[in-house]
Amino acid sequence: MIPLIPEWAHHYGEFWRAIRIRNLWFIKLRYLAVVMLLAFTISGQYIFQFYFTSNQFVALLTISILILLYNIVIQQTRKYVGCIPDKFNCLHLSLIQMALDLISLMIVVYYTGLIESPLHLFFIFHMIIGSLILPGYLVYITAGIISVLFGLLAMLQRYGLVEKYFIIGLYTNNRPQTLTYDILFIIIFTLMLFISVYIANKITRQLYKREQQLRSTLEKLNEAEITKQKYIIGIVHEVKTPVTATHSIIDLIINKFVGPIDIEVEKKLHRAKQRTEETLNLLNDILRISRLKILDVKSAEEIDIVKLFESLIDKQLELVKTKSITLELNDKRAENKKIKADTILLELAISNLLSNAVKYVDQNGIIEILLEDRDGMLFIEFSDTGIGIPKDSLPKIFTQFFRASNIDRSKHSGTGMGLAIVKEIIEMFGGNIVVKSPSRIGDEQHPGTTFEISLPYNFKPNRYDIFVVNNEDYLSNRNEF
Ligand code: ADP
Repeated sequence: MIPLIPEWAHHYGEFWRAIRIRNLWFIKLRYLAVVMLLAFTISGQYIFQFYFTSNQFVALLTISILILLYNIVIQQTRKYVGCIPDKFNCLHLSLIQMALDLISLMIVVYYTGLIESPLHLFFIFHMIIGSLILPGYLVYITAGIISVLFGLLAMLQRYGLVEKYFIIGLYTNNRPQTLTYDILFIIIFTLMLFISVYIANKITRQLYKREQQLRSTLEKLNEAEITKQKYIIGIVHEVKTPVTATHSIIDLIINKFVGPIDIEVEKKLHRAKQRTEETLNLLNDILRISRLKILDVKSAEEIDIVKLFESLIDKQLELVKTKSITLELNDKRAENKKIKADTILLELAISNLLSNAVKYVDQNGIIEILLEDRDGMLFIEFSDTGIGIPKDSLPKIFTQFFRASNIDRSKHSGTGMGLAIVKEIIEMFGGNIVVKSPSRIGDEQHPGTTFEISLPYNFKPNRYDIFVVNNEDYLSNRNEF
């Protein structure tokens, strides 16, 4: 098989993605070319005053239909052609397309006057497109073949060895054309082809090089971020160990395992235990967010979102009943389409929003969860009739450690890390989250909050998201989420 992959594109996934997209683009463009060629032939013959001989007319119609047919075949084949370098791949398909296009163009140019035909400019366009896809040497060879063929046909026509065609009404064979003119034309045409290939090749190479530089810089940045997060995890673990020990010792004393204690001391110890618990929660949240940043999220599973909601609501049921909350889950989608994401992470995000809603609504509050299909994405709306979020706090609500000014710290315990984690997860899966307050169902007394999430059903990792992994680390700690 011909070695088609340019040296600079080896092991470069983005190159293959671009080839596939460009192949599709050529297919669409070719349909347009067929329409234009048919329009040119038919309108010329019947509307405008330029005429083709029956030979020309039949040839142009036949070539239009042939282009249409091979385009349909290529379009169908494209679906089955992959991107494996050693097998027949999308790059070979590009080469076949280019060869067929050039042969067709040569025929069209020949039947419309060769040197006189204005359509020969399309050869330059093809050379530029070829340079975007194929290795330089192949495009140079192609440019050489076109020049030789073009020159040969022009000479054969000049000496009457092949028929010469004109478009009567556009130009005639009365034009005095010397041999010098023909030779000059062929030389300039050849030069134009080669210069176009040279410039297009140079630009393409530079473009890919820049992309690679950008990619490696991003990789370095991600590596630095991961090192930073690992450092944070290390420190937090160091701090967590003595806090956990302190918490256990206080617990032992409160439970009187080390002897009787005075009631005042016990009160103080309860307070101390509560503070250590808050610190532990905070440390766990920091650990969660740091681990999220170093995860490999490419392992996406198929999730039944309704089931996931139901199981998470079940876990909150006790509190929901105690506060007499009305909680509704409303799936307005035509079908319960599965979503591709990491179950644990999605659970973590949704349970955070759910527990916030339960935490921040008062007695007899309402929580409404809506599922919809919007623009091919899963749209989730969480609305409640809770305390709401003041206008000035809304822009900072997804910032780590931020808690709005209207909360009652004695009633609403928390660390201000939950929403930062939620946002991180949703964006990791290519989604988006926005907050609104008052909510859709709120009133004057209970303004409430609405969170709107859009999530793609099929999570595709962004090519620049290099969540290089410490998968073992992640898996061994998943149960902490
Ligand atoms: P936490 O709830 O632990 O404080 P979060 O990051 O989950 O932290 O939320 C950040 C802040 O956003 C909360 O402190 C609260 O002020 C506000 N908030 C989040 N969800 C709601 C809600 N459903 N209703 C009212 N305020 C909310």
